[in-house]
Amino acid sequence: MEHTVSCYDCGATAPLGARKRCPCGEPLWVDIDASGFEWAETGSVDDMWRYTEVLPVTEPVGVPPGGTPLSRAERLDEYAGCTLFLKHEGQNPTGSFKDRGSAVGTAATVETGRKWIGTVSHGNMALSTSAYAASAGLECAVFVPADTPPARLELIARHDPHIFGVKGDYGRLYADTLSLETEANFVNSDTPLRVAGQKTIVYEILEQLAPTAPDAIALPVSSGGQASAVWKAINELRRAGAIDDDEVPRLYLCQAAACDPIATAYRNDEPEVTPVTAGETIAVSIANADPPSGTRALTAVRDTEGAVVSVPDEAIRDAMDRIATRAGVSVEPSSAVAVAGLRKLSQTDVIEPSDRVVAILTGSGYKELSGADIRSRTIDLADLERELASVVDA
Ligand SMILES: *Cc1c(COP(=O)(O)O)cnc(C)c1O
Ligand SMILES: [Zn+2]
Repeated sequence: MEHTVSCYDCGATAPLGARKRCPCGEPLWVDIDASGFEWAETGSVDDMWRYTEVLPVTEPVGVPPGGTPLSRAERLDEYAGCTLFLKHEGQNPTGSFKDRGSAVGTAATVETGRKWIGTVSHGNMALSTSAYAASAGLECAVFVPADTPPARLELIARHDPHIFGVKGDYGRLYADTLSLETEANFVNSDTPLRVAGQKTIVYEILEQLAPTAPDAIALPVSSGGQASAVWKAINELRRAGAIDDDEVPRLYLCQAAACDPIATAYRNDEPEVTPVTAGETIAVSIANADPPSGTRALTAVRDTEGAVVSVPDEAIRDAMDRIATRAGVSVEPSSAVAVAGLRKLSQTDVIEPSDRVVAILTGSGYKELSGADIRSRTIDLADLERELASVVDA
């Protein structure tokens, strides 16, 4: 099937593959008619390829992404100030939701007969794209900031991509790769194919929670690609009559206070997102000071009557702790931002305890260590019983 891409803002269209951004400067996404889509009644989803009929590809590649669990988290309700559900995207093959977009980007690259794929990333997307390229026999070029920690590079290098550590402005690097004349198909954060794959998360959440859509979805935001993907799915399903206008989940986008261009634009009621000067944050996966889909994400929030919040690193660290100790889930700091954001929204009564909210836990905590304090003690085997009793009977 021939697909087209279009601009959410000015409405311009083009054939899929012809260009990655609109002449007006805004990002494009793939046009899909979801009117033939039918909900499964089972409440469970095997994997993302269940949604192939609403994707611009036909042949699956690699280890199937998606089909990640959605669980209730009663023990975090009070902390988050809502009726909380967690969507476990860390359980994707390379540990983040990026796999959904990488799989579609890789499948489309194979289907159009190209031999190279590329991406620009802080880490997770480079890892994901490299893995899917490897599974499909594509060559892969990844561009990462030159100061990317060796531990993260090592995970990426395992899949043997061509890694370039780039010195220079990240926002410009991102834009430049999308306008190069090259065989490599760049599937960056907010490009049409990546957004097409990543939108499946919403189809999945709605099927898992059927028949009642959640009141809201909270997620961390960096480039705005994933927020756009969530909004795209909502638009498709609304147009298809699969969700009613009064059932549209509100989108809550969450950022780290040290780097919060979208939250800043929201707070100041600006029509567009403009770059900020970023400080340091532990939420490295979402530290984008010049988000290419920032304005599209802001539009998504306004359209769904949601909000954008930012939270300081202490709140992020605290939320990460709570998610681990009260829900049993290890997430990276960037993912914890969604729960920290909900807590803040509940403190200002933007969300209420009865609101059913899905927080997207975007990435696994099993990739990198942060040097946090460890509670442990060394004991002699001879003292086993006494030592155990000293804590059990305390
Ligand atoms: C990429 C990423 C994000 C942000 O997604 P965007 O599409 O760039 O807004 C959030 N969390 C994790 C773990 C990520 O890898
Ligand atoms: Zn446009």
